[in-house]
Amino acid sequence: MSSILNADLHCHSVVSDGTLTPEELALRAHGKGVELWSLTDHDELGGQQRAAAAARALGMKYLTGTEISVTFIGKTVHIVGLGFDANDAALREGLVQTRGGRGQRAQEMAASLAQIGIRGAYEGALKYAGNHELISRTHFARFLVEVGACKDTNEVFRKYLTEGKPGFVAHRWASLKDAVTWITQAGGVAVIAHPARYGFTANEEYALFTEFKLHGGQGVEVVTGSHTAAEYQTYANMAREFELAASRGSDFHSPNESHTELGTLPHLPGNLTPVWELLTERIQG
Ligand code: AMP
Ligand code: MN
Ligand code: MN
Ligand code: MN
Repeated sequence: MSSILNADLHCHSVVSDGTLTPEELALRAHGKGVELWSLTDHDELGGQQRAAAAARALGMKYLTGTEISVTFIGKTVHIVGLGFDANDAALREGLVQTRGGRGQRAQEMAASLAQIGIRGAYEGALKYAGNHELISRTHFARFLVEVGACKDTNEVFRKYLTEGKPGFVAHRWASLKDAVTWITQAGGVAVIAHPARYGFTANEEYALFTEFKLHGGQGVEVVTGSHTAAEYQTYANMAREFELAASRGSDFHSPNESHTELGTLPHLPGNLTPVWELLTERIQG
């Protein structure tokens, strides 16, 4: 399969913090010309069967997917897994553990928002969570827009939900080693999600890529909704330097909130190995 395949290997449904069902996403992706799709809900596989079935019904190729929350040198990093066996016991148990802390964290976020006069945030956020185990900052953001604290969710993240802001609660997620190991032992490929988003120094980024490779990671998102055109080139170069395959995904969450539509990003830059070439045996349909 060539690098100009319309692959979208990163998006979210109501099973995590998206607003569309797996079936609605499949239909939308197909309508936008996506040829190979993956649903990558945060820390969850609950939508995988539905996504695969919906893709099959539409004649669209599918790879299993998830986006694992990881703590690396004190910061949150996301690792996408693609093409794994969704019934793998160690992966499933790892994800149960990873999402296990979300309820407590959400309570602490609500307590901290209450201190600045925003009440009822836990219940308010929960209302937006299709899957209560996956209560996330995105659901708090929707609640804060609802009560008029901000005009949109981007503003909420800027003013409330990021490090140093009143609604932010530090949290410890999975280790990089565990996340990469769960994915690869389940037959999948681990991919560093949206690397430009982390605000790492050059040394920190070098450490991330080096340790990721050491643990068996094989891919990096080059073309994603979170990158600028210049960043496509930066991470294409990183992919070549670290001999990683390149992935492409919109990170679509919602028709109202996402800047990037499914299947509409530019193709991967040349002279890279597309991640789907490592996964030909794992593609369904
Ligand atoms: P959590 O896993 O609960 O920490 O929530 C992380 C999610 O919040 C990400 O997956 C994004 O969907 C969303 N998010 C993070 N930062 C931003 C931002 N600056 N603007 C909008 N959404 C964001
Ligand atoms: Mn998200
Ligand atoms: Mn992410
Ligand atoms: Mn994502």
